[in-house]
Amino acid sequence: MNPVELARPEIRALQPYSSARMEADTGSIWLNANESPWPPLAPDSPWNRYPDPQPAPLLEALAELYGVRREQLLVGRGSDEGIDLMVRAFCAAGRDAILVSPPTFGMYALCARVQGAGIVEAPLRRDFALDAEAVLAAVTPAVKLVFLCAPNNPAGAGVPRAAILRLAEALAGRALLVVDEAYAEFADPDPAGVSVAGDLDRHANLVVLRTLSKAWGLAGARIGALLADARLVALLRKLMPPYPLPSPSVQAALRVLTGQDRQAMRERVRIVRAERTRLAAGLAQSRCVRKVLPSQANFLCVRFHDAAAAGAALLAAGVVVRDVRRYPMLGDALRISIGTPAENDRVLEVLQVLPPVTQPVESAPRGEVHA
Ligand SMILES: *Cc1c(COP(=O)(O)O)cnc(C)c1O
Repeated sequence: MNPVELARPEIRALQPYSSARMEADTGSIWLNANESPWPPLAPDSPWNRYPDPQPAPLLEALAELYGVRREQLLVGRGSDEGIDLMVRAFCAAGRDAILVSPPTFGMYALCARVQGAGIVEAPLRRDFALDAEAVLAAVTPAVKLVFLCAPNNPAGAGVPRAAILRLAEALAGRALLVVDEAYAEFADPDPAGVSVAGDLDRHANLVVLRTLSKAWGLAGARIGALLADARLVALLRKLMPPYPLPSPSVQAALRVLTGQDRQAMRERVRIVRAERTRLAAGLAQSRCVRKVLPSQANFLCVRFHDAAAAGAALLAAGVVVRDVRRYPMLGDALRISIGTPAENDRVLEVLQVLPPVTQPVESAPRGEVHA
């Protein structure tokens, strides 16, 4: 199946913007884009020129990293842009819908709301595992996109590869399966590989989102990748603004993806994984903690006897954590990112002296959840 056949007809017929940088990147005198002919005054930065929309060196580095072909890769401003592009391309307002499994990342539903698309829910199981049967039972003809966060944010549970691939198979011809692998680098090694990126050629309806924002430490650069069927990548390019990737961000990404930085990143992931185990064990010893949920990501989702008091005590010590009490099944939980060993020590110091209950539980703040 060509996955593009499920897209909005008006998007398929769209004539894409042709950028000056695409029309001519030959020649040496560039007078076609109303740019300043002088570089800015900062040294070594030719930022007077519009950037390449999809720089070849970055595509090559990311294609090699994720094990896909260049034409299966779309680089965007974080994986957030990939989510938004997918919803805009596939979901007509008032007609189509996405499916999510709460509790999960809030951007899927937010983008759907902005687009005027429906949101169908098939909740995770009580142990935060994916309920594939519930997903399939909930899919209606309106559902074009099924979002799966693997490992999941905010609970932290992993999703077995086999379950993801079975779901892709079952949805073939009906809906696309968008697998958000923002935290894949932190998951336990799997002999078959953690990512399903290698399965794109067998499943035309599979889409994978990766990002440099987490393990690669580049959240400020806003570089993410969408991996999919080459025809789908070409379709989404039509929706992107003409110059989506800022040159300084591309340079930052290329720096970390090559040479020594790559080795340093792997060492940092090793430290985060070791600290995750240590912090989980320490928290489990704290009287104020009810349960530490198992995590395959760079955070721990922690149930407290009094989450409001725990959050307040941490804040008083200067430690900011994420209040996730607004999510279903997590009404007593905080999400704590794994910091440096010293930062994690601070968390343990504060919480180890906290009694189980110190004050009445406050109501959780309301609103859309982003990260
Ligand atoms: C942090 C996060 C992202 C990353 O977003 P970027 O736009 O790439 O920074 C994507 N998905 C999930 C589930 C996340 O937690």
